[in-house]
Amino acid sequence: MIRSAAVRTYLDHNASAIPSVAASEAAAEWLRRGGNPSSVHGAGREARAAVEGARRSVAASLDVAPAELVFCSGATEALHLAIAGLATGRHVVASALEHPAVFGALRASGARVRQVRPDAGGRLAPADFVAALAPETALVVAMAAHNELGNLFPVHEIVAAVAPVPVLCDAVQAWGRVPLHPQDLGCTALALSGHKIGAPSGVGALWSKAGTQLRPWIEGGPQERGRRAGTENVAGIVGLGVAAAEIGTRLGQMERLGELRNQLQAALVGLGGVVHGSPEARLPNTLALRFPGLEGELLLQGLDLAGVCISSGSACSAGAIEPSPSLLACGLTEAEARGGLRVSLGPETQAADVEHLLSALPPLLERARCA
Ligand code: PLP
Repeated sequence: MIRSAAVRTYLDHNASAIPSVAASEAAAEWLRRGGNPSSVHGAGREARAAVEGARRSVAASLDVAPAELVFCSGATEALHLAIAGLATGRHVVASALEHPAVFGALRASGARVRQVRPDAGGRLAPADFVAALAPETALVVAMAAHNELGNLFPVHEIVAAVAPVPVLCDAVQAWGRVPLHPQDLGCTALALSGHKIGAPSGVGALWSKAGTQLRPWIEGGPQERGRRAGTENVAGIVGLGVAAAEIGTRLGQMERLGELRNQLQAALVGLGGVVHGSPEARLPNTLALRFPGLEGELLLQGLDLAGVCISSGSACSAGAIEPSPSLLACGLTEAEARGGLRVSLGPETQAADVEHLLSALPPLLERARCA
């Protein structure tokens, strides 16, 4: 459990949310029950009914038709499925801030990609997507909310500006944090992940507009109407359905979390922190910042020893710390980007969690500045 020890303060909900009790219990029940939804006997029919109930629940949370959803192993797979169908070997315009899962799927599909650069605050302008279009552009990829910066992007305006080119939206960080309705965004496809909303990890979904031609990324059996082969992850899907039914409760916490985040931000700026991203359009739960001259990874490790979990945007590659590509895309130097830290709150976060971070950090900053 990511919050098993009573002393541990978990402030990394953008990496994985704390699993919802109801979603975990429902998933555990189906782990015990088993049953293959493709079997015609009673056990199979019950598993099928559980999967379809979950599909209706996810669909209801988004205001879409259940048949427009394909369950898969997470957003990475959902993005691969969408990109395989909409972009294989073709010209694609994508924001430079997309998750590595998007760029991985684009590479795998053989698409030719033109990237749209953000400004220093990580803002994306619809006009820049239009400028990047070529006559042969088959797809535009634009995320709804950024995993590190928390920035919210004008997906609806981007869709309108690039029409009739279809838009794939990675809505992983937006789901459960801001109201999300694909029809309002106007996009053609939208990728979702369970573990960011309290469902188990290893489950997600792709929504695509009725009539969208998807090319199965995983081929074999006829599951998911032939769009995703393989026996369904019934337990994970049931957990996803329960977590989706709790989206309203999660959203109801966001105003409180926004206030808590703002208090934290003010205190961290008081300690010398420099905030990243665009505060005027940001997820309420997310704070991205750096302490100039200090490595994010070092502070993260010190906080971890003090029982506080946060994240840096850096990735460990071949033993070296690689700075966040998103921060580099915003024009930060490598040294500045290596300072990146992200604090992300969730519905379980209380003022005491924020206070724990604020009491653990000053001695670490002092030590790091003297080193
Ligand atoms: N897109 C974004 C914005 C994410 O934050 C993540 C996960 O960190 C993914 C895609 C990948 O999701 P999954 O872990 O479900 O494959």
